Amino acid sequence: MTNMVPVGASTSGTFGWTPIEKPQSERALANLVDYDRACREFSWEHARSELAGLPGGGLNIAYEAVDRHAEGPAAQTPALRWLSAAGGEVVLTYAELAAATNRFANVLQGLGIGRGERICVLLGRTPELYIAILGALKVGCVVSPLFSAFGPEPVRQRLAISEAAALVTSTALYRKKVAPIRAEVPALRTVLITDGLTETGEMYVDDLAAAMAVASPEFRIARTGPDDPALLHFTSGTTGKPKGALHVHGAVLAHRVTARYALDLRVGDIFWCTADPGWVTGMSYGVIAPLCLGATVISDEAEFDARRWYDVLTAQRVSVWYTAPTALRMLMRYGDRLPEGTDLSPLRFITSVGEPLNPEVVLWGERVLGHPVHDNWWQTETGAIMIANLAAAQVRPGSMGRPLPGVEATTLKRGQDGRAAVVADSVTPADPGEVGELALRPGWPSMFREYWGEPERYEKCFAGGWYLSGDLARRDADGYYWFVGRADDVIKSAGHLVGPFEVESALMEHPAIAEAGVIGTPDPVAGELVKAFVLLRPGYQASEELRAELTAFGRKALGAVAPKQIEFTESLPHTRSGKVMRRLLKARELGLPEGDTSTLEGAV
Ligand code: ATP
Ligand code: MG
Repeated sequence: MTNMVPVGASTSGTFGWTPIEKPQSERALANLVDYDRACREFSWEHARSELAGLPGGGLNIAYEAVDRHAEGPAAQTPALRWLSAAGGEVVLTYAELAAATNRFANVLQGLGIGRGERICVLLGRTPELYIAILGALKVGCVVSPLFSAFGPEPVRQRLAISEAAALVTSTALYRKKVAPIRAEVPALRTVLITDGLTETGEMYVDDLAAAMAVASPEFRIARTGPDDPALLHFTSGTTGKPKGALHVHGAVLAHRVTARYALDLRVGDIFWCTADPGWVTGMSYGVIAPLCLGATVISDEAEFDARRWYDVLTAQRVSVWYTAPTALRMLMRYGDRLPEGTDLSPLRFITSVGEPLNPEVVLWGERVLGHPVHDNWWQTETGAIMIANLAAAQVRPGSMGRPLPGVEATTLKRGQDGRAAVVADSVTPADPGEVGELALRPGWPSMFREYWGEPERYEKCFAGGWYLSGDLARRDADGYYWFVGRADDVIKSAGHLVGPFEVESALMEHPAIAEAGVIGTPDPVAGELVKAFVLLRPGYQASEELRAELTAFGRKALGAVAPKQIEFTESLPHTRSGKVMRRLLKARELGLPEGDTSTLEGAV
């Protein structure tokens, strides 16, 4: 492996971090030891032998995740360990989860909800959420999870777009979020209430707990195949109105294989994915992948709380932890002393997704939690991790890592609009170090098959034999990918192409800054000026002196692309899945319409 070469013209210190080498003893134990060889030898067709398949033929995600184990020696292994917000704990073994999902499947079938029909699940992180998702997959329904903090309008939108025939929810969520819009979603035939609704009104509702109690714990799983639709996931809405990405049962192969490689996950692991199953990360890796691999899933009902999170890691003896940059930045904000006295010795691997991971955070992980944070990259559309820093490989802080075996990635030269230049359906790979649009060769099993109801939009994602991601990145000479920004977010300032991530990461190296959001504001001379919104760590006060200090700090680190303006803020707008919404910062700054805010954190 050659030494890391700082990539790009304006990277200064940000990407010049020393790579983190793992000790040989650690590397030898990883699931994927020889990356180059695995890339050479891997084929999805071969990997298919890892799947059990349905007895008698076919493929169903729920069988791979649950029944396969329930029928074998792992039947009594805890599949789900659920922590209630109030402090209780419920454990479901694989056998119990199989029986509960069978009961649910029987209830659904008894209500006439059939294969291919959409079922939305609007629940907090409770055992019923997992049971409903997996049970509905057994029936062959297309499951669309709705994040429980959505207000009535985003719920209505998704129910309407998916034309869901059924909805599973709780009494409280029903009253607050569904009742106000119930009349506007006529396709919805059945509402199943997990905890018994007392006033049924004029529509058909059911007491799910009662119905499940009398349903049979045996169920014959629908004989779905790899190309049958299974999941409808809405994107985070960071760049605009959320899109519905449809995934098939065959995606389970990618869930399983990528979790082995990128999360280093295996039988016996206690795995905590902090993403809610309302988002693709919480589904692919918070439900499906760890169960497929026979691990124990930790699910915490409560919202983020730094002390609680450290306690969960310790008390549950979490061995593999998958979380998000925003959450890690929040933990960092509470300081290095909070985890003191926390026994993190069972923790083997920390990994993160969803947003660019600042090098500062990677190193903080190593220093304070005992492991560097391993960044990986993927999207709702890709269904599974595509690019990752691996357990046995060097971690390059600030890089998303390398494409997984079975994934062919590239960067493509850009045209006028900043996206890949397509001429007569052909594209050109970018040079190493050059900013290009990140693209993937179609063929991995969890690739989305459709934007629900938007066929033209789907078609536009492909050109020259590649899937175009909409993200810009650089590939270095060793094949590591470095995120630059979403094509929509990059800033053009005085001839420089500025990725917000680079500027945000540089600012975060200053001890006063907990989080930053960077945008371009129009300027007659430079085209755009770089403006940073910064959130301070506790103990720091906004002042003109601090602003001057931060400006000088930025200039030293970034030179010409440093932010000209720095604004202190009490909070940055985030999507509910934890991403900084730069388009909203920009719209607010310029007094423009805010666009779709259905996924904005705090919106109702
Ligand atoms: P929308 O498509 O509706 O605008 P979204 O793109 O945020 O929303 P997701 O599919 O949840 O919806 O997120 C995928 C995007 O998140 C990626 O395209 C990328 O921009 C960002 N992302 C994910 N992982 C990383 C990472 N490791 N580093 C940088 N960015 C990442
Ligand atoms: Mg997207």
